[in-house]
Amino acid sequence: MIKAVESDVVERTRRLAAAADRVVVKAGTNSLTDDESNLDDEKLDTFVDGVVSLLDRGKDVIVVSSGAIGAGKGRIGQTGGTIEESQALSTIGQSHLMRRYTESFERYDRTVAQILVTEHDLENPERFTNFRNTIETLLEWGVVPIINENDAVATEEIRIGDNDMLSASVSIGVDVDLLVTLTDVGGVYTGNPKEDPEAERIEAIERNYSAVESIIDESASGEFGGIRTKVQGARTVSEHGIPAIIARSDEPDVLERIAIGKPVGTIFVPVNGDHDD
Ligand code: GLU
Repeated sequence: MIKAVESDVVERTRRLAAAADRVVVKAGTNSLTDDESNLDDEKLDTFVDGVVSLLDRGKDVIVVSSGAIGAGKGRIGQTGGTIEESQALSTIGQSHLMRRYTESFERYDRTVAQILVTEHDLENPERFTNFRNTIETLLEWGVVPIINENDAVATEEIRIGDNDMLSASVSIGVDVDLLVTLTDVGGVYTGNPKEDPEAERIEAIERNYSAVESIIDESASGEFGGIRTKVQGARTVSEHGIPAIIARSDEPDVLERIAIGKPVGTIFVPVNGDHDD
């Protein structure tokens, strides 16, 4: 049984999310590719439209984008069974992905920058300082940083889901005010929504987190396992006082709706050391 978060707390968090000056938006592979693992121009353009709507409101936006391995598969028609193959595919897909982002943002005269990192870069203080300085400079210049894991060198980071932790580390490290994780499910559910028609969306997560965690442990399997790292990433961020939202990438105007404080997906209330009920 998941206890609902008090409505005024949810409302306050939505307003906080809407007012965010600096936002990390994470897009997963499914949000950018089609069934044949080709980059889907329409999906990518729609995502970019949403990011630009935030930029037009004067917000700084940092994109964390997956899709390199996926796009690589579609590009050369390989499925990539081994780690070595996935790493090689990421290098093919990453440049293709950036070409498409460059073109898509050019529709709005916006410039993008590619940053590839591993968790190790973020853990090393000196490298992390350089990373943060680069981001700050790009944002000052009005350029949109697009971050992905450096899959070619990061064997243990290649598992699907790690960009969720990457976006959490980036959110905390560069002092953003909101993390939005866009995915192919509409948030966090009381079961696996792809298998269980009774599964209900959980509107907000705060002190009900332990109950949510146990539900996820029970229902997460196979492909749905992806929700676990998204929840962990969002929770980590909210424990640092930053609101986070997990939402469906193809919900119309999803980023704009967040920017005007509308109910979207599942929102994580900043908890600042509060304990679970
Ligand atoms: N970095 C991988 C890619 O771009 C995806 C990892 C993830 O989705 O977490 O293909």
